[in-house]
This record gives sequence, structure tokens and C-alpha cells, in this order.
Amino acid sequence: MNKRSEIGDTYRDGTCPRLVDSHAHLDAPEFDADRADAVRRAFAAGVGAILCPADLTRAASFAAIAGLMTEFPTVLAAAGVHAHQAKDLTEAHLRGLRELAGSGAIRAVGEIGLDYHYDFSSPEAQRDAFRRQLALAEELELPVIVHSRLAGADIVAAVDAERFDRGGILHCFTEDRATAEAMIARGFLVSFSGILTFPKAGALRDVAAVLPLDSLLVETDSPYLAPVPYRGAGRRNEPAFVVETARVLAGIRGLAPEEMAGATTRNFARLFPFEKTGGRC
Ligand SMILES: [Zn+2]
Ligand SMILES: [Zn+2]
Repeated sequence: MNKRSEIGDTYRDGTCPRLVDSHAHLDAPEFDADRADAVRRAFAAGVGAILCPADLTRAASFAAIAGLMTEFPTVLAAAGVHAHQAKDLTEAHLRGLRELAGSGAIRAVGEIGLDYHYDFSSPEAQRDAFRRQLALAEELELPVIVHSRLAGADIVAAVDAERFDRGGILHCFTEDRATAEAMIARGFLVSFSGILTFPKAGALRDVAAVLPLDSLLVETDSPYLAPVPYRGAGRRNEPAFVVETARVLAGIRGLAPEEMAGATTRNFARLFPFEKTGGRC
């Protein structure tokens, strides 16, 4: 047995992953050539679990993640219709979500949310799609993975309007402190991406410094947003690189990297308990 598979098997024996990548688009075409190897490289780097949000508007998306899940028990799936595709949301997508939830294939609904920077769908269509999927997640008793760009107040308002109380993850966090604290008060975790490592992200690091430790997660948002030092023109991000974001977050908080890894893994495991650890990390 090689070293990589031993790390995966350690998890099966009931220990916790050292680090978790709480958001990686391993379904993306950028991983068509080496999807499983990207997971193995993550395991070798100590990243023992990866949450992958599937895009319901693309037929190949969930299939790619399902393929990984059969091979790797710590690859978890979510599914949803992203803010960018909100105008394309149909009843068939919502039926698909019900089926995936009913079979236990997904652990969360997402990513869903609002993106007022890109506006690929109108703000009205985005709010409608977000609220419909929030309502369905509440019915299905699943947490949600939320994308928010320049939309913090409307995200909080939609969560309140739907009386959504299953919690989830505010992913690739770039909003202000008030939005983070409002979502934490509503049972959400806040996940920092490689943006945290960018030289110009001082304001984001200031927010990361003051949020409760038990609300923090790290993610790659692969294949996008590679952290320093992997950042470079067109450089693909992958789950193994989340180590760098966790290292920067540890520095901001004055913790050792191992302490930050442990804290973020425990936070993730509260939301998505690892079966063989009795839910504890
Ligand atoms: Zn996103
Ligand atoms: Zn994403």
C-alpha cells in the first residue's frame, strides 16, 4: 500500500482528516484529465476530506463527483443551481435535488446564492432561485452552501424570509464583518478561500482576525483562486493547496498551523459528521 492510500484509510479507521477543503469544483472540466489524482495529492498533503458542489444545470457535473465518491469515502457532494445560472432554474432541477437528497447522495444544497458583481442572471431571478432552493433545503432538512458577492444584506434577508434554520457554509467569504456575524448568528460557518493570501486582501484578513474560531473554515474553490504561492497567470487551483490558506489564517489568529487545521476540521465535522468518528473530531 502506498502512502497516499494509507492516509485515506486512516480516516476509515476512525480518525479525523488533518485538514478539510470545504469547497472544490472537482467536477470542472479543468480536472477531466486528473480528477482522482487531485484527490490523492490532497490526501498526501493532509487534506483528508473535500466537499464538492455539483452544478445541476450541467449533466456531467454530478456524475464526475459521484465517480470520486465511490472511490474516496471522504469526498462529499452538494448540488444546486448557482446564482450565475439562476435564470435557468426549472422544476426539473428541484426534482433532481429531491432525488439526490432522498438517495443520500448529497449532504447539502449548493452552491446557491446571489452574485451582484457578475449579473449573469438578473438580481430578481437570482433572489427567486435562491429562495426556492433555500425553501427546498429547509424541507429536505439539509444545510446550504451559500455564494455571496456584493449581496450580503440580501442573503441575510432571504434566509430570514424563508425562516431557514438548517445552517450551512458562507463560502469564499469576501463580504463585510456585519454579514459574517449575521450569518454566524443564523448557524452558518464562514469559509475563507485563497483570496485570504492575496497581498491586497487586508480588509478580509481583518475580518478573519475577529470572527469566532468555532465559525471558521478554509476552502480552495478549485480550480479558481489559487492561493499564494501557487497564484499565477492561469494557474489551476486544487484541494492540496488549501494548506496555504490555512497557514495564513493560522498566522492571522496567532495559532500554530496544526491548531488551525484542527479547529477548522472540527467545525466542518459539526456540520458534516464523519461517519467513523462518531461525529467527533
Ligand atoms: Zn461561489
Ligand atoms: Zn464555488
